[in-house]
Amino acid sequence: MATAGPGALGADIGQIPATWDFEADVVVIGAGATGLPAAIAARDTGASVLVVEANYDIGGHAILSGGNVPLGGGTSAQRRYGIVDSPDTVFADLTDWTIVQPNGWPDYRYNDRLVMRAFADHCTAAYEFLVANGVKFKEVPPDNSGAHSTGNSAPRENHAFWTDGTGLGSPSGRDGAGLVRPLEASARAKGVRFLLNHKMISLVREAISPGRVLGLTAQYAPRTLPGATTPLHSYRSAGNIDSTTPQVSIRASKAVILATGGSTSNVNFRRMFDPRLTEVYQTAGEPYTFQDASGELAAMAVGASLWGLGNQILENGDGIRTQRALGARYNYFTWDVNSPIFPLVRASGLDVQDWQNVILVNQLGQRFYDETKGDYPNGNRYNEFSPYKPNDYRNNASIDYNPTEYNFFNAAVAMNAASGPPDYAAGPVWAIFDAAAVAREQWRMTPPYVDPAGYCFSAPTLVELAAAIRNPYQQRPMDGAALHAAVERYNSFVDAGVDPDFGKPRPQYKIHTPPFYAAWATPLVHDTRAGLRINAQCQVMDMQGEVISGLYCGGESAGGFNQHGLGRCTAQGYMAGTYAAAQRP
Ligand SMILES: Cc1cc2nc3c(=O)[nH]c(=O)nc-3n(C[C@H](O)[C@H](O)[C@H](O)COP(=O)(O)OP(=O)(O)OC[C@H]3O[C@@H](n4cnc5c(N)ncnc54)[C@H](O)[C@@H]3O)c2cc1C
Repeated sequence: MATAGPGALGADIGQIPATWDFEADVVVIGAGATGLPAAIAARDTGASVLVVEANYDIGGHAILSGGNVPLGGGTSAQRRYGIVDSPDTVFADLTDWTIVQPNGWPDYRYNDRLVMRAFADHCTAAYEFLVANGVKFKEVPPDNSGAHSTGNSAPRENHAFWTDGTGLGSPSGRDGAGLVRPLEASARAKGVRFLLNHKMISLVREAISPGRVLGLTAQYAPRTLPGATTPLHSYRSAGNIDSTTPQVSIRASKAVILATGGSTSNVNFRRMFDPRLTEVYQTAGEPYTFQDASGELAAMAVGASLWGLGNQILENGDGIRTQRALGARYNYFTWDVNSPIFPLVRASGLDVQDWQNVILVNQLGQRFYDETKGDYPNGNRYNEFSPYKPNDYRNNASIDYNPTEYNFFNAAVAMNAASGPPDYAAGPVWAIFDAAAVAREQWRMTPPYVDPAGYCFSAPTLVELAAAIRNPYQQRPMDGAALHAAVERYNSFVDAGVDPDFGKPRPQYKIHTPPFYAAWATPLVHDTRAGLRINAQCQVMDMQGEVISGLYCGGESAGGFNQHGLGRCTAQGYMAGTYAAAQRP
């Protein structure tokens, strides 16, 4: 008997079709940091594997990433450089409740110990698996660079790198391509098939209790650049399935693996964890891919449970980031103008060398923060607590509490003065600066460096600048008099050498040389840290704590694990693929 109809939170439950359009032993949804290892691991056991990917090419957030991969526990790289580590040490590190960040938030307290034990036990095997499948890491000792919440006892960060200078193989030119492009090549060489441009919209599960997941439905959703007639296409094509049928059904005789990358792009979903995360906050990873919670929603529609929700609101690591580039909507890093998707990105953004060159104001034109202060702390990593004694509450004495630090996001979203109906969001943050700052920073204030269509404005006076701001997230016009007053007051702080309002150390430059500029500087959402409940084999669990047979999950769509990025994703992908392929049909 088929289940059908609307499920929880808008996802449907798929009908069991009379005939299926495609079939494989293991069907992986998503071709990023979790999906590619899952596909290869399952294929290595002899299973037939089909990867369904919503985007025109593989990679997900992983291909845009810095390629820093935290995997330890005694890897060959750690041993080569004499670093002592073990699965037990990884487990102890990542469940140590006493570790607290400088902003007072606990790093590992809300991790699920079952999930952590499974990760610790597969960490080293996952690293060797990546290397065996072509990933090349820099010949340097594992370190702390880029590491977030990787544990205090041993350096565990490994660095993939990307050397293709053409820009074709990477949508951003960043080192994450050095992780995912070799995995993709290995998967294709081993016979994994890819159904790109297809978005999974529902799972199909038997109605008879305890019904197993049989497959899924997916919709054809090609992507086209503005003004182009042909859809974007993948860089490699071996193993790609050509299909333009609007909706297809796909049978998974053994298992479906959800590797859909989390919920950062779904405003309603992310607001379940933190109501402040309204639509004004853009997402790192867009517009390449959109992690829209479709994996979570489809699984919840067939009964799955969410898990470890507390991890999503811990204000550390990469949950929410300060912008790194100004004047562009997608402002987490400065984009390569040669990127194949640059017409969607629209502007590379301005790299800020010295935050003394700008002030930040809210949508009303009011200053609210010391601009030189940055993100939340990264999360505990090697040797941050010294001395360190596992599970000793006195570890807290080793961290330098400073409650005035790390509050940029809180300051930016908590501006009640600027908020209004319908949801009382605080609105955008704008960087305000003048022509002299442009000269000092050597910025170019024209496309493709900035986006004048909504994200960067200039005018001969501050009052005219405020009036010029037109942006979809600006809920009300900026008050020109308020902006003028804010700049005048700041200029007086430069004269005085102190900032009595927000404590910016020795304000250095007046903002008084026209033209004046307003550039998008709104913080953005980066990571998903809570998702579906999984067990030690990465099987998805239901609300009664029972396994949903035939359904697996890993990476940012899985819950119970507070760590940034590629370590947990690649390891859980490797685990999910291995265990899913072993499932009886
Ligand atoms: C700019 C940036 C830099 C980063 N740098 C680092 C770093 O240096 N080190 C680190 O550890 N982490 C880093 N991260 C984080 C890391 O990239 C992610 O945590 C990781 O890629 C998540 O893996 P995933 O498999 O869960 O999702 P992804 O890698 O994002 O893959 C998910 C895939 O699923 C697809 N998908 C989603 N929904 C569907 C659907 N319904 N149907 C079909 N396909 C679907 C998506 O299109 C996507 O391709 C970075 C992230 C970003 C955005």
